[in-house]
Amino acid sequence: MAQMGTSAVWHDADKNWEMRELPLPELESDAIQIRVKATSVCGSDLHMWRGDGIPEDAPPRDPFVFGHEMMGEIAAMGNKVTTDSMRRPLKEGDRVAYSYFFPCARCYNCLRGEFGACKFRLGRKPLEEWPVCNGGFAQYYYLRSPNYVFKLPDSISNAAAAPINCALAQVYEALHLGGVRLGDNIVVQGAGGLGVNATAVAAELGASKVIVIDSQKPRLDLAIQCGATHTIDMNEYETPESRIDRVMELTNGIGADKVIEVVGFPAVVEEGLKMVRMRGIYLEVGHISPNSFASIDVSTMVSNQVRFYGIQHYDPWIIPNAIDFLERTADKYPLTSVISHEFPLDQIGKAFETAEWLGTQKGSEVTRAVVTP
Ligand SMILES: [Zn+2]
Ligand SMILES: [Zn+2]
Repeated sequence: MAQMGTSAVWHDADKNWEMRELPLPELESDAIQIRVKATSVCGSDLHMWRGDGIPEDAPPRDPFVFGHEMMGEIAAMGNKVTTDSMRRPLKEGDRVAYSYFFPCARCYNCLRGEFGACKFRLGRKPLEEWPVCNGGFAQYYYLRSPNYVFKLPDSISNAAAAPINCALAQVYEALHLGGVRLGDNIVVQGAGGLGVNATAVAAELGASKVIVIDSQKPRLDLAIQCGATHTIDMNEYETPESRIDRVMELTNGIGADKVIEVVGFPAVVEEGLKMVRMRGIYLEVGHISPNSFASIDVSTMVSNQVRFYGIQHYDPWIIPNAIDFLERTADKYPLTSVISHEFPLDQIGKAFETAEWLGTQKGSEVTRAVVTP
């Protein structure tokens, strides 16, 4: 009989989690079975959990397993796998970070080396089509081929390693694509998990000013510890106009060279586009929910020559660089110690409520909730 693992299955119909035992797939020779050790609740998980962007009268989605910000240990390897993606020897029990998408290696984008843009890359499939653990909120996660997997150093804890493949890798990719360079002025819209990582990466890339906007004081304090030179507290600057003015004031009336958006609500984009300097770059990461419509005067984007980049996923080389960055800067930025709330898998409901609470209450404790399946 196939080995079984527990997955947290989300049901839209009654807005509840079900702990379900699912069979593990039979291991292919070039695949890896991961025993998941830590999965953090990403802002995009909250969008998905709430059903943001889905019309009220839409039928419930089919039950599904999700979660993507994760790390784990090698539970089993197919007989063709002997090393990680940097050709370092790999064995059962090794702690690893990995991308949660699987480029097909035989499509238009893959041929051009754009693995993060392969249309066939996503791992999560409907339960009836792929009746196995296949999300991060589960005991096991199946890395089918081609997978990108990297050994983790002992100095990075499980909880600290979980956000590497999303919160950190995603903003790393965005700032890399945006060509952030020495002396740039950067605005970060949102100081959640992605925002504080973006702040630290921008600072490390040599940004002159890193201006971070959020409504929660503890998050802004954390942003300062992560390299922000200025913060804009939305309780103090209550209107979009006042925040845009503040960015202009801090940049001598020029605007930011690059603005990165990691909140995921359309009004934030409408506001942020007005913070970009002439021929500056807007890096849009936050919107993953459907029906995210913003009202934009396109003529101002033309006259201000604003470059708008939509960004999702990353090329696999980002992950080992992100691991090195985290290890190298551990004493400089508190990125490896921001996670304090840990929940076992059967308390995943509480993990989401805590993460939601953290995102909505003013003055709440700053953290990222982690599930430890
Ligand atoms: Zn994420
Ligand atoms: Zn492809």
